[in-house]
Amino acid sequence: AAAPPAGVLELIKRLERGGFEAWAVGGCVRDALLGRAPHDWDLCTSATPQQMRACFAGLHLIDTGLRHGTLTARVDHCSYEVTTYRVDGAYQDGRRPAQVRFVRSLTQDLARRDFTVNAMAWHPQRGLADPYGGQTDLAARRIRCVGRPVDRFEEDALRILRALRFAATLGFELEEQTARAVREERAALSRIAPERLREEFFRLLCGPGCAAVLDGYLDVFCVFLPELGPMRGCLQHNAYHDRDVWGHTLAALEAVPADDLTVRLAALLHDIGKSKCFTQDENGVGHFYGHAARSAEIARAVLQRLRCDGETLRTVTGLVLQHDLPFSADPRLLRRRLAQLGPQRIEQLLALQRADVCGQAPGCRAERLAAQEEIKTALNAVLRQRPCLDLGQLAVDGRDVLALGVPQGPGVGALLQALLEQVVDGALPNERAALLAELRKKLLAEKDG
Ligand code: ATP
Ligand code: MG
Repeated sequence: AAAPPAGVLELIKRLERGGFEAWAVGGCVRDALLGRAPHDWDLCTSATPQQMRACFAGLHLIDTGLRHGTLTARVDHCSYEVTTYRVDGAYQDGRRPAQVRFVRSLTQDLARRDFTVNAMAWHPQRGLADPYGGQTDLAARRIRCVGRPVDRFEEDALRILRALRFAATLGFELEEQTARAVREERAALSRIAPERLREEFFRLLCGPGCAAVLDGYLDVFCVFLPELGPMRGCLQHNAYHDRDVWGHTLAALEAVPADDLTVRLAALLHDIGKSKCFTQDENGVGHFYGHAARSAEIARAVLQRLRCDGETLRTVTGLVLQHDLPFSADPRLLRRRLAQLGPQRIEQLLALQRADVCGQAPGCRAERLAAQEEIKTALNAVLRQRPCLDLGQLAVDGRDVLALGVPQGPGVGALLQALLEQVVDGALPNERAALLAELRKKLLAEKDG
């Protein structure tokens, strides 16, 4: 198991010197047992926040949630959340506990935790505390509620989505009773604040096992993302596809690197409007005219409802809208695309298009993937030449145009834009003398015309 950082040992030592118990707890213990590096270490203790303060004298402390018994302590530039042993009070309409009650024992604290694999604690001398069989479930790669699943989901419905999130990120399955309760209690997700849903759902989407989870529990996701539903069973009736839109979407999703949330979102949503655009021609071949625009519209609505940040929302809807934009390995066309969209968006778009192809019928996949590789190589070659892609990089600017006697106004920008297009197309080098000569030529032609 991964070794805990020195800060954890330091905090535990200080609390014990003050006469209290302290343990590392929750996700860090789970991840360390799995041999993964925990991204943060949380502690739990018998000390109240007041008592913690006394033990942590001299350390930088942040009040994280005193009402919930949590204090953040900084050691060696790392933050650790330390929380008093507690049980959750009554939950208000399936959201946060209205209040918490501090308790005396670790076992009581572990009982309030959601899943057995999250309900283990570790101590440098005493070793592992695992009263609910977390280790067994970890070995069996199983997510199981602590206690009766139905009760736990009724207490806090977000746990329904958390169960699926952990299944997706860890590549685990839900234990049978937990799986049944997830389905039975799914309607309660509609009472959960969209921000909380978003946080768990986005993390789920970045899990390596997300496709299987989305597929296995589509009806659960449809409680808060009903737009996903019509993708299942939407047949495409053309040569590119051997699956319904949902199967295609899941395969595309799996082809996107797990850490790329933006492109994963775009892959999930890229065909979400297809079922609304289906027509068949006289030969029975399926067409989806306008489906990218329709999908982008639905993607926007979905992300807005989840209170997604503006940057992600704009990028994802843009990618969905443009996902069928044609590319070729021709350097001139690539420079045009770069000028139009910028290098970062192009990279994301190519990642999405690659994923899209990966979800298509094997018959056309190999050829299309090869074409994509060629485009990528050509794109890198173009970028290495550091081409001029925007007005800021052009070797002349507005002052040059004014100096040639053009009156201030929109005509100046139009002239520069026309020059930029010629440079991007390779018709002109991005050199001052050549651009000034071209400007003079244009002005003369204007006068004559
Ligand atoms: P990670 O941070 O890697 O996603 P984690 O297990 O640390 O995983 P957090 O959301 O940070 O997950 O929660 C920390 C711990 O708090 C969990 O391991 C679990 O024990 C407990 N916990 C968090 N949310 C809930 C909840 N809604 N119901 C019950 N216990 C919870
Ligand atoms: Mg955590």
